[in-house]
Amino acid sequence: MNTHINFAIEADKNDPLAKYKEQFYFPQHNGKNAIYFCGNSLGLQPKKVAASIQTELDTWKEIAVGGYFGGKNPWLYYPDQCKPALAKMIGSKDSEVTVMNALTVNLHLMMLSFYKPSPSRFKIIMEAGAFPSDQYAIETLVKHFGLNPIDTIIEIAPKEGQKILHTEDILNTIENAGTSLAMVMFGGINYYTGQFFDIEQITRKAHAVGAIAGFDLAHVTGNIPLQLHDWKVDFAVWCSYKYLNAGPGAVGGAFIHEKHASNIDTPRLAGWWGNEEKERFKMEKGFIPKASASGWNLSTSQVFNTAALNASLTIFNEVGIEALRKKSLLLTAYLEYLLSQLTNISFEIITPINPSERGAQLSLYFNKDGKAIHTKLIESGVIVDFREPGVIRVAPAPLYCSFEDVYRFYEIIKDNF
Ligand SMILES: *Cc1c(COP(=O)(O)O)cnc(C)c1O
Repeated sequence: MNTHINFAIEADKNDPLAKYKEQFYFPQHNGKNAIYFCGNSLGLQPKKVAASIQTELDTWKEIAVGGYFGGKNPWLYYPDQCKPALAKMIGSKDSEVTVMNALTVNLHLMMLSFYKPSPSRFKIIMEAGAFPSDQYAIETLVKHFGLNPIDTIIEIAPKEGQKILHTEDILNTIENAGTSLAMVMFGGINYYTGQFFDIEQITRKAHAVGAIAGFDLAHVTGNIPLQLHDWKVDFAVWCSYKYLNAGPGAVGGAFIHEKHASNIDTPRLAGWWGNEEKERFKMEKGFIPKASASGWNLSTSQVFNTAALNASLTIFNEVGIEALRKKSLLLTAYLEYLLSQLTNISFEIITPINPSERGAQLSLYFNKDGKAIHTKLIESGVIVDFREPGVIRVAPAPLYCSFEDVYRFYEIIKDNF
């Protein structure tokens, strides 16, 4: 790598995924595509989405209620279309994945299925500084069971003066909680630091002390390939509007390991869409769940926003998550390299330097001028976000970001500060 623009141009020429950039709409800046490094917050719109939604609009217009059983994609089975692509991404069987609701709702549903506090085993381990919605979900879950969050929730924070967690410390905390631990509920990637946690080891340790292991994969799905089935993760949830590019309010996803999903006696809060399709319209008493993750679906499928996800997933299916990760590792390493060459500003990369402990995102902490640098980037047509007290999160999503985009970002900071 070097700091000449030609390196970026050459890298883009050699990038087998470069052609996918044109499958997305970009916000415009002075008549040109902006550079978009916010795919960790809201992914760009794939151009295919409109046609996919239009198809269902047409079905609704032409056959109305007939669309549940007829039309191009009968709505009764509509969410099933997403499963193969998602299963490949997260390393699961099709029967272990479902789409429904949205992330925080699914987090509650999963925790209500799997968190079974007893007088001796009731503690929950989570990361300190988790995304606020996860903090609120766990706090209110605990109160729902009449327990006190302070006595129940164990938050793992980085060591004094550090920003990231050591896997050893996570595993030791689980070990020490021992038989008092009911559940580990961890993020996959921390939204602020960009740290990717060792899901396999955390799960193994949780199981060793007899606890459930659940994960929030909001920043992981579509970013890093996983093996949730083989790692024996109990459950996971995610949203589809970040790296999955399915748009604001997109339908959320959930993974439930086969050992629980195939057991129709696994406790859950149910609705008719989790019932066997053949029985569903008999409108009879007595819930008989599907023996799969779909047995957690509650309501009539959200066809329009699932249509957006379906369209987006066709791109992931074509590219493959492994190829995407390969490019992502190069792109983020290039970003890290260029940042390391800057001598005109003072900042710290708080994301782990080890590429296997991070996804696309780097979080840059500025103890001064962070806001000014953010403003300059936005004015220059580079969309990144700013999080108090001075962190700029930069996420070059490999589906639609190029090496030249990363170079331009570097050049703006180099030439203006
Ligand atoms: C983005 C994100 C959320 C958002 O939850 P919604 O229910 O989709 O609004 C929750 N948790 C984490 C870790 C996130 O990154």
